[in-house]
Amino acid sequence: MKLLAPVAPRWYARLNDATLVTGLLIVLGYVWLGFASQQLSQDSPLSINPVSAALAGLAVLYGLIGYRVLSKRVSLLAGLISFLLLSSSVGTLVFTTGGLESQYLVLWVVVALFSAMFGWLTLILTWTLTNGYFLLAALGTISTTLSQPELITHLIVLELPFLTSFFLWYGQNEQGDDAKLDESVGASDIRQGMLINSIAEGVMVIDEQSRIQVFNPAAASVTGWKSEDAKGIDFTSVLPLYDAKGQPIPAEKHPIRQVFARAETVADNDARLKTRSNKIIELSLVASPITNKNGGVVAVVAVFRDVSAERSQERQRAEFISTASHEMRTPVAAIEGYLALAMNNNVSKIDSKAREYLEKAHSSTQHLGKLFQDLLTAAKSEDGRLQNVPRVVEIGAYLDQLVEDIKFAAEKRGLIMEYNSGADNAVAGSTSLRPLMYAHVDPERVREVITNLFDNAVKYTPEGKVSVALNADEQNLMISVSDTGPGISQEDIPHLFQKFYRVDNTATRQIGGTGLGLFISRKIVEMNDGKIWVESELNKGSSFHISLPRLSQDKADMLLKQEAAKETPLAGVSGNVEI
Ligand code: ADP
Repeated sequence: MKLLAPVAPRWYARLNDATLVTGLLIVLGYVWLGFASQQLSQDSPLSINPVSAALAGLAVLYGLIGYRVLSKRVSLLAGLISFLLLSSSVGTLVFTTGGLESQYLVLWVVVALFSAMFGWLTLILTWTLTNGYFLLAALGTISTTLSQPELITHLIVLELPFLTSFFLWYGQNEQGDDAKLDESVGASDIRQGMLINSIAEGVMVIDEQSRIQVFNPAAASVTGWKSEDAKGIDFTSVLPLYDAKGQPIPAEKHPIRQVFARAETVADNDARLKTRSNKIIELSLVASPITNKNGGVVAVVAVFRDVSAERSQERQRAEFISTASHEMRTPVAAIEGYLALAMNNNVSKIDSKAREYLEKAHSSTQHLGKLFQDLLTAAKSEDGRLQNVPRVVEIGAYLDQLVEDIKFAAEKRGLIMEYNSGADNAVAGSTSLRPLMYAHVDPERVREVITNLFDNAVKYTPEGKVSVALNADEQNLMISVSDTGPGISQEDIPHLFQKFYRVDNTATRQIGGTGLGLFISRKIVEMNDGKIWVESELNKGSSFHISLPRLSQDKADMLLKQEAAKETPLAGVSGNVEI
Protein backbone atom coordinates (compact mmCIF):
# COMPACT_ATOMS: atom_id res chain seq x y z
CA MET A 1 0.00 0.00 0.00
CA LYS A 2 1.34 3.41 -0.96
CA LEU A 3 1.05 6.72 0.87
CA LEU A 4 -1.55 7.94 -1.60
CA ALA A 5 -2.64 5.58 -4.35
CA PRO A 6 -5.63 5.31 -6.63
CA VAL A 7 -8.15 2.47 -6.77
CA ALA A 8 -10.61 1.64 -9.55
CA PRO A 9 -12.89 4.67 -10.18
CA ARG A 10 -16.02 2.60 -9.44
CA TRP A 11 -14.89 2.40 -5.76
CA TYR A 12 -14.85 6.18 -5.52
CA ALA A 13 -18.40 6.10 -6.84
CA ARG A 14 -19.36 3.70 -4.00
CA LEU A 15 -17.69 5.99 -1.44
CA ASN A 16 -19.61 8.90 -2.89
CA ASP A 17 -22.84 6.91 -2.52
CA ALA A 18 -22.00 6.34 1.16
CA THR A 19 -21.20 10.05 1.65
CA LEU A 20 -24.45 11.00 -0.04
CA VAL A 21 -26.59 8.64 2.08
CA THR A 22 -24.85 9.58 5.34
CA GLY A 23 -25.10 13.31 4.53
CA LEU A 24 -28.76 12.93 3.66
CA LEU A 25 -29.46 11.07 6.92
CA ILE A 26 -27.81 13.81 8.96
CA VAL A 27 -29.64 16.60 7.12
CA LEU A 28 -32.99 14.81 7.39
CA GLY A 29 -32.30 14.07 11.06
CA TYR A 30 -31.54 17.75 11.62
CA VAL A 31 -34.75 18.85 9.90
CA TRP A 32 -36.84 16.21 11.62
CA LEU A 33 -35.46 16.93 15.06
CA GLY A 34 -35.83 20.64 14.51
CA PHE A 35 -39.41 20.69 13.31
CA ALA A 36 -40.94 17.59 14.85
CA SER A 37 -43.28 18.18 17.74
CA GLN A 38 -40.83 16.86 20.31
CA GLN A 39 -38.40 19.75 20.08
CA LEU A 40 -35.25 18.51 21.76
CA SER A 41 -33.27 20.48 24.24
CA GLN A 42 -29.84 21.80 23.22
CA ASP A 43 -27.97 19.20 25.25
CA SER A 44 -30.10 16.21 24.30
CA PRO A 45 -27.85 13.33 23.18
CA LEU A 46 -29.66 13.29 19.81
CA SER A 47 -29.71 16.97 18.89
CA ILE A 48 -27.75 17.71 15.72
CA ASN A 49 -25.48 20.72 15.67
CA PRO A 50 -26.06 23.18 12.74
CA VAL A 51 -22.36 23.00 11.80
CA SER A 52 -22.48 19.24 11.20
CA ALA A 53 -25.84 19.63 9.43
CA ALA A 54 -24.27 22.28 7.17
CA LEU A 55 -21.27 20.05 6.47
CA ALA A 56 -23.64 17.15 5.73
CA GLY A 57 -25.62 19.43 3.39
CA LEU A 58 -22.38 20.28 1.62
CA ALA A 59 -21.58 16.56 1.33
CA VAL A 60 -25.01 15.94 -0.24
CA LEU A 61 -24.54 18.78 -2.72
CA TYR A 62 -21.05 17.63 -3.59
CA GLY A 63 -22.23 14.02 -3.92
CA LEU A 64 -24.97 15.04 -6.32
CA ILE A 65 -23.16 17.58 -8.46
CA GLY A 66 -19.52 18.26 -7.57
CA TYR A 67 -18.41 14.64 -7.59
CA ARG A 68 -20.01 13.95 -10.94
CA VAL A 69 -18.25 16.89 -12.58
CA LEU A 70 -14.86 16.44 -10.94
CA SER A 71 -14.66 12.64 -11.21
CA LYS A 72 -14.66 12.90 -15.02
CA ARG A 73 -11.27 14.58 -14.83
CA VAL A 74 -9.53 13.63 -11.59
CA SER A 75 -11.16 10.66 -9.94
CA LEU A 76 -8.65 10.37 -7.05
CA LEU A 77 -9.18 13.99 -5.99
CA ALA A 78 -12.95 13.67 -6.43
CA GLY A 79 -12.94 10.62 -4.12
CA LEU A 80 -10.67 12.33 -1.60
CA ILE A 81 -13.00 15.32 -1.31
CA SER A 82 -15.92 12.93 -0.84
CA PHE A 83 -14.02 11.23 1.98
CA LEU A 84 -13.10 14.55 3.65
CA LEU A 85 -16.73 15.69 3.58
CA LEU A 86 -17.92 12.36 4.99
CA SER A 87 -15.36 12.32 7.80
CA SER A 88 -15.77 16.00 8.70
CA SER A 89 -19.59 15.90 8.84
CA VAL A 90 -19.67 12.62 10.81
CA GLY A 91 -16.71 13.74 12.98
CA THR A 92 -18.38 17.04 13.94
CA LEU A 93 -21.66 15.21 14.59
CA VAL A 94 -20.03 12.67 16.89
CA PHE A 95 -17.92 15.31 18.63
CA THR A 96 -20.87 17.65 19.31
CA THR A 97 -23.18 14.89 20.53
CA GLY A 98 -21.03 13.46 23.30
CA GLY A 99 -17.92 12.07 21.65
CA LEU A 100 -17.46 8.50 22.79
CA GLU A 101 -20.92 8.44 24.31
CA SER A 102 -22.56 9.78 21.12
CA GLN A 103 -25.46 7.80 19.69
CA TYR A 104 -24.02 8.56 16.27
CA LEU A 105 -20.65 6.93 16.94
CA VAL A 106 -21.71 4.05 14.69
CA LEU A 107 -21.47 6.38 11.68
CA TRP A 108 -17.74 6.74 12.37
CA VAL A 109 -17.48 3.04 11.51
CA VAL A 110 -18.42 3.97 7.90
CA VAL A 111 -15.60 6.55 7.87
CA ALA A 112 -13.15 4.02 9.30
CA LEU A 113 -14.10 1.43 6.65
CA PHE A 114 -13.20 3.81 3.84
CA SER A 115 -10.10 5.21 5.57
CA ALA A 116 -7.54 2.97 3.81
CA MET A 117 -9.08 3.52 0.40
CA PHE A 118 -6.56 6.22 -0.52
CA GLY A 119 -3.48 4.57 0.97
CA TRP A 120 -1.55 5.00 4.21
CA LEU A 121 -2.10 8.74 4.48
CA THR A 122 -5.86 8.74 5.12
CA LEU A 123 -5.69 5.52 7.16
CA ILE A 124 -3.04 6.88 9.54
CA LEU A 125 -4.72 10.28 9.87
CA THR A 126 -8.16 8.85 10.68
CA TRP A 127 -6.74 6.15 12.94
CA THR A 128 -4.58 8.66 14.89
CA LEU A 129 -7.52 11.00 15.29
CA THR A 130 -9.75 8.22 16.66
CA ASN A 131 -7.13 6.74 18.96
CA GLY A 132 -5.87 10.14 20.09
CA TYR A 133 -9.39 10.97 21.21
CA PHE A 134 -9.57 7.66 23.08
CA LEU A 135 -6.28 8.28 24.75
CA LEU A 136 -7.33 11.74 25.91
CA ALA A 137 -10.60 10.29 27.25
CA ALA A 138 -8.76 7.45 28.99
CA LEU A 139 -6.31 9.92 30.54
CA GLY A 140 -9.23 12.06 31.68
CA THR A 141 -8.27 15.14 29.59
CA ILE A 142 -11.61 14.81 27.82
CA SER A 143 -14.42 14.24 30.25
CA THR A 144 -16.41 11.07 29.81
CA THR A 145 -18.87 9.10 31.86
CA LEU A 146 -17.68 5.82 30.40
CA SER A 147 -16.05 3.41 32.79
CA GLN A 148 -12.60 1.94 32.12
CA PRO A 149 -13.95 -1.46 30.86
CA GLU A 150 -16.52 0.36 28.66
CA LEU A 151 -13.70 2.44 27.16
CA ILE A 152 -11.70 -0.70 26.36
CA THR A 153 -14.75 -2.33 24.69
CA HIS A 154 -15.29 0.83 22.62
CA LEU A 155 -11.64 0.84 21.61
CA ILE A 156 -11.70 -2.79 20.48
CA VAL A 157 -14.96 -2.31 18.59
CA LEU A 158 -13.60 0.80 16.84
CA GLU A 159 -10.23 -0.77 15.95
CA LEU A 160 -11.98 -3.50 14.00
CA PRO A 161 -13.25 -1.34 11.07
CA PHE A 162 -9.74 0.13 10.64
CA LEU A 163 -8.29 -3.36 10.43
CA THR A 164 -11.02 -4.41 8.00
CA SER A 165 -10.38 -1.29 5.93
CA PHE A 166 -6.67 -2.08 5.72
CA PHE A 167 -7.26 -5.60 4.39
CA LEU A 168 -10.11 -4.45 2.17
CA TRP A 169 -8.13 -1.78 0.34
CA TYR A 170 -4.62 -3.16 0.64
CA GLY A 171 -4.97 -5.37 -2.47
CA GLN A 172 -6.90 -2.74 -4.40
CA ASN A 173 -4.41 0.07 -4.50
CA GLU A 174 -1.39 -2.22 -4.31
CA GLN A 175 -2.14 -3.14 -7.94
CA GLY A 176 -1.35 0.44 -8.82
CA ASP A 177 -2.59 1.83 -12.11
CA ASP A 178 -3.79 -1.45 -13.56
CA ALA A 179 -6.29 -1.73 -10.73
CA LYS A 180 -8.09 1.19 -12.25
CA LEU A 181 -9.18 -0.92 -15.18
CA ASP A 182 -12.54 -2.48 -14.75
CA GLU A 183 -12.14 -6.16 -13.87
CA SER A 184 -14.35 -7.17 -16.74
CA VAL A 185 -11.82 -5.72 -19.16
CA GLY A 186 -9.42 -8.41 -18.06
CA ALA A 187 -6.85 -6.48 -16.10
CA SER A 188 -4.47 -9.40 -16.26
CA ASP A 189 -4.36 -9.16 -20.06
CA ILE A 190 -3.81 -5.46 -20.03
CA ARG A 191 -1.15 -5.89 -17.41
CA GLN A 192 1.06 -7.15 -20.17
CA GLY A 193 2.27 -3.57 -20.00
CA MET A 194 5.62 -4.37 -21.55
CA LEU A 195 3.91 -5.43 -24.73
CA ILE A 196 1.73 -2.35 -25.00
CA ASN A 197 4.58 -0.04 -24.04
CA SER A 198 6.78 -1.36 -26.81
CA ILE A 199 4.17 -0.86 -29.56
CA ALA A 200 5.19 1.97 -31.88
CA GLU A 201 1.57 3.10 -32.37
CA GLY A 202 -0.25 5.09 -29.71
CA VAL A 203 -2.43 2.75 -27.64
CA MET A 204 -5.12 3.94 -25.27
CA VAL A 205 -7.76 2.00 -23.32
CA ILE A 206 -10.84 3.95 -22.27
CA ASP A 207 -13.27 2.68 -19.61
CA GLU A 208 -17.04 2.99 -19.53
CA GLN A 209 -16.80 6.33 -17.74
CA SER A 210 -14.80 7.65 -20.72
CA ARG A 211 -11.63 7.76 -18.65
CA ILE A 212 -8.24 6.75 -19.98
CA GLN A 213 -6.92 3.69 -18.18
CA VAL A 214 -3.99 2.64 -20.36
CA PHE A 215 -1.76 5.10 -22.20
CA ASN A 216 1.46 3.84 -23.74
CA PRO A 217 4.62 5.91 -24.42
CA ALA A 218 3.85 6.19 -28.14
CA ALA A 219 0.45 7.70 -27.25
CA ALA A 220 2.29 10.17 -25.03
CA SER A 221 4.66 11.18 -27.79
CA VAL A 222 1.83 11.66 -30.33
CA THR A 223 -0.47 13.65 -28.05
CA GLY A 224 2.15 15.47 -25.99
CA TRP A 225 0.42 14.30 -22.77
CA LYS A 226 2.46 12.61 -20.04
CA SER A 227 1.11 9.17 -19.22
CA GLU A 228 0.50 10.04 -15.56
CA ASP A 229 -1.45 13.19 -16.53
CA ALA A 230 -3.56 11.46 -19.15
CA LYS A 231 -4.57 8.43 -17.09
CA GLY A 232 -7.85 8.78 -15.26
CA ILE A 233 -9.13 11.78 -17.23
CA ASP A 234 -11.75 12.01 -19.97
CA PHE A 235 -10.38 10.92 -23.37
CA THR A 236 -11.85 13.95 -25.16
CA SER A 237 -9.41 16.19 -23.26
CA VAL A 238 -6.42 14.16 -24.43
CA LEU A 239 -7.65 13.34 -27.93
CA PRO A 240 -9.58 16.42 -29.13
CA LEU A 241 -10.28 15.87 -32.84
CA TYR A 242 -10.91 18.39 -35.59
CA ASP A 243 -12.23 17.99 -39.12
CA ALA A 244 -10.45 19.00 -42.31
CA LYS A 245 -11.98 22.49 -42.08
CA GLY A 246 -10.51 22.98 -38.60
CA GLN A 247 -13.87 22.63 -36.82
CA PRO A 248 -13.85 20.61 -33.58
CA ILE A 249 -15.55 17.22 -33.94
CA PRO A 250 -18.42 17.16 -31.41
CA ALA A 251 -18.06 14.65 -28.56
CA GLU A 252 -20.92 12.44 -29.78
CA LYS A 253 -19.27 12.10 -33.20
CA HIS A 254 -15.86 11.24 -31.75
CA PRO A 255 -14.85 7.81 -33.13
CA ILE A 256 -14.26 6.47 -29.59
CA ARG A 257 -17.73 7.57 -28.45
CA GLN A 258 -19.17 5.93 -31.58
CA VAL A 259 -17.56 2.62 -30.64
CA PHE A 260 -19.31 2.79 -27.24
CA ALA A 261 -22.59 3.56 -29.02
CA ARG A 262 -22.36 1.08 -31.88
CA ALA A 263 -20.20 -1.69 -30.35
CA GLU A 264 -18.18 -2.02 -33.55
CA THR A 265 -14.75 -0.97 -34.79
CA VAL A 266 -14.55 2.58 -36.14
CA ALA A 267 -11.66 3.83 -38.27
CA ASP A 268 -10.90 7.47 -39.02
CA ASN A 269 -8.11 8.33 -41.39
CA ASP A 270 -8.87 12.00 -41.88
CA ALA A 271 -8.97 13.24 -38.32
CA ARG A 272 -6.81 16.04 -37.04
CA LEU A 273 -5.61 16.10 -33.46
CA LYS A 274 -4.79 19.13 -31.36
CA THR A 275 -1.82 18.09 -29.24
CA ARG A 276 -1.20 19.35 -25.73
CA SER A 277 1.02 22.08 -27.17
CA ASN A 278 -1.88 23.18 -29.45
CA LYS A 279 -0.20 21.82 -32.59
CA ILE A 280 -2.57 20.30 -35.16
CA ILE A 281 -1.38 16.97 -36.54
CA GLU A 282 -2.98 14.50 -38.91
CA LEU A 283 -4.03 11.26 -37.32
CA SER A 284 -4.96 7.77 -38.39
CA LEU A 285 -7.10 6.16 -35.72
CA VAL A 286 -8.79 2.80 -35.24
CA ALA A 287 -10.97 2.28 -32.19
CA SER A 288 -12.34 -1.15 -31.27
CA PRO A 289 -14.68 -2.31 -28.51
CA ILE A 290 -13.81 -4.67 -25.66
CA THR A 291 -17.04 -6.48 -24.85
CA ASN A 292 -18.24 -8.55 -21.92
CA LYS A 293 -19.95 -11.93 -22.15
CA ASN A 294 -23.26 -10.26 -22.98
CA GLY A 295 -21.78 -8.23 -25.82
CA GLY A 296 -21.88 -4.93 -23.89
CA VAL A 297 -18.96 -2.57 -24.46
CA VAL A 298 -16.93 -2.32 -21.25
CA ALA A 299 -13.98 -0.46 -22.72
CA VAL A 300 -12.53 0.79 -25.99
CA VAL A 301 -9.00 0.31 -27.33
CA ALA A 302 -7.85 3.13 -29.56
CA VAL A 303 -4.74 2.67 -31.71
CA PHE A 304 -3.46 5.76 -33.48
CA ARG A 305 -0.43 7.29 -35.15
CA ASP A 306 0.74 10.60 -36.49
CA VAL A 307 0.48 10.49 -40.30
CA SER A 308 1.36 14.15 -40.93
CA ALA A 309 4.63 13.29 -42.70
CA GLU A 310 3.00 10.66 -44.93
CA ARG A 311 0.15 12.98 -45.80
CA SER A 312 2.56 15.76 -46.64
CA GLN A 313 4.42 13.42 -49.02
CA GLU A 314 1.11 12.35 -50.56
CA ARG A 315 0.21 16.00 -51.05
CA GLN A 316 3.55 16.67 -52.73
CA ARG A 317 2.99 13.70 -55.04
CA ALA A 318 -0.54 14.86 -55.85
CA GLU A 319 0.79 18.37 -56.42
CA PHE A 320 3.35 16.98 -58.85
CA ILE A 321 0.73 14.92 -60.72
CA SER A 322 -1.58 17.87 -60.86
CA THR A 323 1.09 20.28 -62.15
CA ALA A 324 2.43 17.72 -64.62
CA SER A 325 -1.00 16.85 -66.01
CA HIS A 326 -1.91 20.52 -66.21
CA GLU A 327 1.28 21.30 -68.14
CA MET A 328 0.89 18.30 -70.44
CA ARG A 329 -2.76 18.91 -71.20
CA THR A 330 -1.92 22.03 -73.22
CA PRO A 331 0.50 20.43 -75.74
CA VAL A 332 -1.72 17.36 -76.02
CA ALA A 333 -4.68 19.60 -76.87
CA ALA A 334 -2.52 21.28 -79.51
CA ILE A 335 -1.49 17.91 -81.02
CA GLU A 336 -5.14 16.83 -81.04
CA GLY A 337 -6.10 20.04 -82.79
CA TYR A 338 -3.39 19.72 -85.47
CA LEU A 339 -4.27 16.06 -86.07
CA ALA A 340 -7.89 17.09 -86.59
CA LEU A 341 -6.73 19.75 -89.05
CA ALA A 342 -4.55 17.22 -90.88
CA MET A 343 -7.58 14.97 -91.30
CA ASN A 344 -9.80 17.79 -92.49
CA ASN A 345 -10.19 17.55 -96.30
CA ASN A 346 -10.78 21.29 -96.53
CA VAL A 347 -7.38 22.23 -95.21
CA SER A 348 -5.07 19.36 -96.09
CA LYS A 349 -4.64 16.61 -98.61
CA ILE A 350 -3.56 13.17 -97.35
CA ASP A 351 -3.77 9.68 -98.76
CA SER A 352 -5.94 6.97 -97.20
CA LYS A 353 -3.03 5.19 -95.46
CA ALA A 354 -1.93 8.45 -93.80
CA ARG A 355 -5.58 9.09 -92.73
CA GLU A 356 -5.72 5.66 -91.11
CA TYR A 357 -2.56 6.38 -89.11
CA LEU A 358 -3.70 9.86 -88.19
CA GLU A 359 -7.09 8.56 -86.99
CA LYS A 360 -5.28 6.12 -84.68
CA ALA A 361 -2.99 8.89 -83.46
CA HIS A 362 -6.01 11.14 -82.92
CA SER A 363 -7.88 8.55 -80.87
CA SER A 364 -4.79 7.84 -78.71
CA THR A 365 -4.26 11.56 -78.19
CA GLN A 366 -7.88 11.91 -77.11
CA HIS A 367 -7.36 9.11 -74.63
CA LEU A 368 -4.20 10.81 -73.34
CA GLY A 369 -6.06 14.12 -73.03
CA LYS A 370 -8.82 12.41 -71.02
CA LEU A 371 -6.21 10.75 -68.78
CA PHE A 372 -4.57 14.10 -68.00
CA GLN A 373 -7.94 15.69 -67.39
CA ASP A 374 -8.97 12.85 -65.03
CA LEU A 375 -5.63 12.98 -63.21
CA LEU A 376 -6.03 16.69 -62.70
CA THR A 377 -9.63 16.37 -61.48
CA ALA A 378 -8.70 13.48 -59.14
CA ALA A 379 -5.78 15.46 -57.65
CA LYS A 380 -7.99 18.52 -57.18
CA SER A 381 -10.77 16.49 -55.58
CA GLU A 382 -8.28 15.20 -53.02
CA ASP A 383 -6.71 18.47 -52.02
CA GLY A 384 -9.99 20.38 -51.94
CA ARG A 385 -9.29 22.52 -55.02
CA LEU A 386 -12.09 20.99 -57.06
CA GLN A 387 -14.66 23.71 -57.47
CA ASN A 388 -18.22 22.85 -56.59
CA VAL A 389 -20.78 25.61 -56.93
CA PRO A 390 -24.15 24.30 -55.73
CA ARG A 391 -27.33 25.79 -57.13
CA VAL A 392 -30.98 24.90 -56.94
CA VAL A 393 -31.57 22.41 -59.75
CA GLU A 394 -34.92 20.87 -60.76
CA ILE A 395 -33.56 17.41 -61.36
CA GLY A 396 -36.51 16.23 -63.51
CA ALA A 397 -36.02 18.78 -66.29
CA TYR A 398 -32.25 18.67 -65.85
CA LEU A 399 -32.11 14.90 -66.40
CA ASP A 400 -34.50 15.05 -69.37
CA GLN A 401 -32.06 17.40 -71.11
CA LEU A 402 -28.98 15.46 -70.06
CA VAL A 403 -30.35 12.14 -71.33
CA GLU A 404 -31.27 13.85 -74.59
CA ASP A 405 -27.61 14.92 -74.95
CA ILE A 406 -25.98 11.61 -74.11
CA LYS A 407 -28.33 8.97 -75.48
CA PHE A 408 -26.72 9.00 -78.94
CA ALA A 409 -23.63 7.29 -77.59
CA ALA A 410 -25.77 4.24 -76.70
CA GLU A 411 -27.69 4.30 -79.93
CA LYS A 412 -24.45 4.56 -81.93
CA ARG A 413 -23.31 1.30 -80.35
CA GLY A 414 -26.60 -0.42 -81.23
CA LEU A 415 -27.79 -0.55 -77.61
CA ILE A 416 -31.40 -0.06 -76.57
CA MET A 417 -31.77 3.13 -74.60
CA GLU A 418 -34.45 3.45 -71.91
CA TYR A 419 -35.30 6.45 -69.79
CA ASN A 420 -37.62 6.48 -66.82
CA SER A 421 -38.06 10.17 -66.17
CA GLY A 422 -39.66 9.88 -62.75
CA ALA A 423 -43.14 10.37 -64.18
CA ASP A 424 -44.16 7.45 -61.93
CA ASN A 425 -43.91 9.93 -59.14
CA ALA A 426 -46.53 12.07 -60.82
CA VAL A 427 -49.94 12.70 -59.43
CA ALA A 428 -52.14 9.69 -60.29
CA GLY A 429 -53.52 9.71 -63.80
CA SER A 430 -51.38 12.52 -65.10
CA THR A 431 -48.05 12.26 -66.89
CA SER A 432 -47.54 15.93 -67.41
CA LEU A 433 -47.74 16.79 -63.73
CA ARG A 434 -44.53 15.21 -62.59
CA PRO A 435 -43.73 16.71 -59.20
CA LEU A 436 -40.86 19.14 -59.10
CA MET A 437 -37.76 17.52 -57.66
CA TYR A 438 -35.24 20.02 -56.39
CA ALA A 439 -31.69 19.44 -55.23
CA HIS A 440 -28.95 21.85 -54.19
CA VAL A 441 -26.02 20.63 -56.28
CA ASP A 442 -23.46 21.77 -58.81
CA PRO A 443 -25.17 20.87 -62.13
CA GLU A 444 -21.88 20.75 -64.06
CA ARG A 445 -20.27 18.36 -61.60
CA VAL A 446 -23.34 16.11 -61.38
CA ARG A 447 -23.39 16.09 -65.17
CA GLU A 448 -19.80 14.75 -65.11
CA VAL A 449 -20.87 11.92 -62.78
CA ILE A 450 -23.94 10.85 -64.78
CA THR A 451 -22.04 11.09 -68.06
CA ASN A 452 -19.26 8.99 -66.63
CA LEU A 453 -21.65 6.29 -65.37
CA PHE A 454 -23.45 6.35 -68.68
CA ASP A 455 -20.19 6.15 -70.70
CA ASN A 456 -19.12 3.15 -68.59
CA ALA A 457 -22.47 1.44 -69.11
CA VAL A 458 -22.14 1.92 -72.87
CA LYS A 459 -18.44 1.05 -72.89
CA TYR A 460 -18.76 -2.20 -70.94
CA THR A 461 -22.04 -3.44 -72.48
CA PRO A 462 -21.42 -5.22 -75.81
CA GLU A 463 -25.14 -5.70 -76.50
CA GLY A 464 -28.47 -5.23 -74.79
CA LYS A 465 -29.88 -2.28 -72.94
CA VAL A 466 -28.72 0.80 -71.07
CA SER A 467 -31.21 2.68 -68.92
CA VAL A 468 -31.39 5.83 -66.86
CA ALA A 469 -34.04 6.28 -64.16
CA LEU A 470 -35.08 8.92 -61.69
CA ASN A 471 -36.84 8.07 -58.43
CA ALA A 472 -37.69 10.17 -55.42
CA ASP A 473 -39.03 10.08 -51.92
CA GLU A 474 -39.52 12.98 -49.51
CA GLN A 475 -35.88 13.10 -48.44
CA ASN A 476 -33.85 11.91 -51.42
CA LEU A 477 -33.63 11.84 -55.18
CA MET A 478 -32.11 8.77 -56.78
CA ILE A 479 -30.64 8.66 -60.25
CA SER A 480 -29.78 5.18 -61.53
CA VAL A 481 -27.77 4.12 -64.57
CA SER A 482 -28.21 0.43 -65.38
CA ASP A 483 -26.96 -1.90 -68.07
CA THR A 484 -27.21 -5.50 -69.17
CA GLY A 485 -23.43 -5.82 -69.45
CA PRO A 486 -20.96 -8.28 -67.89
CA GLY A 487 -21.65 -7.22 -64.28
CA ILE A 488 -19.09 -6.84 -61.51
CA SER A 489 -18.08 -9.54 -59.02
CA GLN A 490 -18.85 -9.08 -55.31
CA GLU A 491 -15.11 -9.03 -54.47
CA ASP A 492 -14.52 -6.07 -56.77
CA ILE A 493 -17.49 -4.00 -55.63
CA PRO A 494 -15.91 -2.64 -52.39
CA HIS A 495 -12.85 -1.39 -54.32
CA LEU A 496 -14.63 0.04 -57.33
CA PHE A 497 -14.71 3.65 -56.14
CA GLN A 498 -11.00 3.70 -55.23
CA LYS A 499 -8.40 5.55 -57.23
CA PHE A 500 -6.99 3.63 -60.26
CA TYR A 501 -9.05 0.53 -59.52
CA ARG A 502 -9.95 -1.43 -62.62
CA VAL A 503 -11.51 -4.87 -62.57
CA ASP A 504 -8.96 -7.31 -63.90
CA ASN A 505 -10.72 -9.28 -66.64
CA THR A 506 -10.33 -9.68 -70.35
CA ALA A 507 -13.15 -7.27 -71.15
CA THR A 508 -11.60 -4.46 -69.08
CA ARG A 509 -8.15 -5.15 -70.45
CA GLN A 510 -9.41 -4.75 -73.98
CA ILE A 511 -11.43 -1.64 -73.21
CA GLY A 512 -9.38 1.44 -72.44
CA GLY A 513 -9.79 3.31 -69.19
CA THR A 514 -7.96 4.98 -66.34
CA GLY A 515 -9.73 3.61 -63.26
CA LEU A 516 -10.32 7.21 -62.19
CA GLY A 517 -13.88 7.78 -63.39
CA LEU A 518 -15.69 6.16 -60.46
CA PHE A 519 -13.24 7.66 -57.95
CA ILE A 520 -13.93 11.15 -59.28
CA SER A 521 -17.67 10.38 -59.35
CA ARG A 522 -17.62 9.38 -55.68
CA LYS A 523 -15.71 12.53 -54.72
CA ILE A 524 -18.16 14.76 -56.59
CA VAL A 525 -21.23 13.02 -55.16
CA GLU A 526 -19.81 13.32 -51.63
CA MET A 527 -19.06 17.01 -52.22
CA ASN A 528 -22.76 17.40 -52.95
CA ASP A 529 -23.77 15.54 -49.76
CA GLY A 530 -24.91 12.50 -51.70
CA LYS A 531 -24.09 8.81 -51.88
CA ILE A 532 -23.05 6.57 -54.74
CA TRP A 533 -23.20 2.79 -54.81
CA VAL A 534 -23.54 -0.12 -57.19
CA GLU A 535 -25.66 -3.24 -57.38
CA SER A 536 -24.42 -5.86 -59.78
CA GLU A 537 -24.63 -9.51 -60.70
CA LEU A 538 -22.12 -11.24 -62.93
CA ASN A 539 -23.36 -11.82 -66.49
CA LYS A 540 -26.60 -10.00 -65.74
CA GLY A 541 -25.62 -6.35 -65.54
CA SER A 542 -24.92 -3.48 -63.19
CA SER A 543 -26.88 -0.60 -61.70
CA PHE A 544 -25.05 2.45 -60.41
CA HIS A 545 -27.13 4.66 -58.12
CA ILE A 546 -26.61 8.21 -56.91
CA SER A 547 -28.77 9.59 -54.17
CA LEU A 548 -28.89 13.34 -53.50
CA PRO A 549 -30.71 15.14 -50.68
CA ARG A 550 -34.04 16.48 -51.92
CA LEU A 551 -34.96 20.09 -51.22
CA SER A 552 -38.47 20.87 -50.04
CA GLN A 553 -40.42 23.29 -52.23
CA ASP A 554 -40.16 26.00 -49.51
CA LYS A 555 -36.42 25.57 -49.09
CA ALA A 556 -35.96 25.58 -52.88
CA ASP A 557 -38.02 28.79 -53.21
CA MET A 558 -36.01 30.45 -50.47
CA LEU A 559 -32.66 29.48 -52.02
CA LEU A 560 -33.87 30.48 -55.49
CA LYS A 561 -34.73 33.93 -54.13
CA GLN A 562 -31.28 34.21 -52.56
CA GLU A 563 -29.66 33.16 -55.85
CA ALA A 564 -31.69 35.73 -57.76
CA ALA A 565 -30.73 38.44 -55.26
CA LYS A 566 -27.06 37.54 -55.63
CA GLU A 567 -27.21 37.61 -59.42
CA THR A 568 -28.90 41.06 -59.51
CA PRO A 569 -27.55 42.76 -56.40
CA LEU A 570 -29.52 45.95 -57.01
CA ALA A 571 -32.85 44.19 -57.45
CA GLY A 572 -33.62 44.19 -53.74
CA VAL A 573 -33.02 47.94 -53.34
CA SER A 574 -34.27 49.18 -56.69
CA GLY A 575 -37.45 50.53 -55.08
CA ASN A 576 -35.39 52.97 -53.08
CA VAL A 577 -33.14 54.10 -55.87
CA GLU A 578 -33.97 57.55 -57.11
CA ILE A 579 -33.58 57.97 -60.83
P1 ADP B 1 -12.38 3.09 -66.20
O1 ADP B 1 -11.69 4.26 -66.75
O2 ADP B 1 -11.53 1.86 -66.10
O3 ADP B 1 -13.71 2.82 -66.80
P2 ADP B 1 -13.86 3.66 -63.79
O4 ADP B 1 -13.38 4.20 -62.49
O5 ADP B 1 -14.91 4.41 -64.48
O6 ADP B 1 -12.58 3.50 -64.66
O7 ADP B 1 -14.34 2.19 -63.54
C1 ADP B 1 -13.58 1.30 -62.75
C2 ADP B 1 -13.80 -0.13 -63.17
O8 ADP B 1 -15.13 -0.52 -62.85
C3 ADP B 1 -13.70 -0.37 -64.64
O9 ADP B 1 -12.37 -0.63 -64.99
C4 ADP B 1 -14.59 -1.56 -64.87
O10 ADP B 1 -13.85 -2.73 -64.68
C5 ADP B 1 -15.63 -1.46 -63.79
N1 ADP B 1 -16.91 -0.92 -64.30
C6 ADP B 1 -17.34 0.36 -64.23
N2 ADP B 1 -18.58 0.48 -64.77
C7 ADP B 1 -18.92 -0.75 -65.18
C8 ADP B 1 -20.09 -1.30 -65.80
N3 ADP B 1 -21.13 -0.52 -66.13
N4 ADP B 1 -20.11 -2.63 -66.06
C9 ADP B 1 -19.06 -3.41 -65.74
N5 ADP B 1 -17.94 -2.97 -65.15
C10 ADP B 1 -17.86 -1.67 -64.88
